[in-house]
Amino acid sequence: MEPTVRERKREPYTCAGCGARFDVAYFDDRQDSVTVLHDVGCPSCARAKSISLPQGAERTLQVELDDSGVEAEDGGGD
Ligand SMILES: [Zn+2]
Repeated sequence: MEPTVRERKREPYTCAGCGARFDVAYFDDRQDSVTVLHDVGCPSCARAKSISLPQGAERTLQVELDDSGVEAEDGGGD
């Protein structure tokens, strides 16, 4: 494969405070399966949310508000 192209992993979250949906994207460079808890701020209301990430991925974190539309997709929560 092409190791020069790094693709961000992207995971959707919903803010427990304001209900905004946002994506958390990061580079997954881990060599093992160590994960850490990391607080990200909701891009809408800044409420902190703890998410689990591969260790080191918090350095490449990007939080993007998902305002792409109102899809009533019920993922069953976390
Ligand atoms: Zn929020």
